[in-house]
Amino acid sequence: MSEIVFTVRSESDGAQYRLEASRTDRGIRFTCSCAAGLKGAHCQHRLALLLKDTRACVEVIDADVAALHQMAKGSHLMQAVEMMVQAQATVDEAQADLRRAKRVLATMLGG
Ligand SMILES: [Zn+2]
Repeated sequence: MSEIVFTVRSESDGAQYRLEASRTDRGIRFTCSCAAGLKGAHCQHRLALLLKDTRACVEVIDADVAALHQMAKGSHLMQAVEMMVQAQATVDEAQADLRRAKRVLATMLGG
């Protein structure tokens, strides 16, 4: 199985990182050459591409992005990404609820 390679540019310092995705027996292997990626931590570059956010890509090749998603589809990696997105949405919703509750409380205490 061939490898899919992406190059992304860091927003903060312009450094370029290389991402490589390939299929394995267990799903997908997706590496990034940034500091977080090399340490084995999850990095924003891989997460962004798995979420179809190609803004950091030096060159966007639609076929490669599509191939990455085909490769990741149904994998444990993609399940984990979806779980994270869902958890983030829950947090965002809770924060919005908290802001609303604080506004209501402030109105009551201020009146
Ligand atoms: Zn990275």
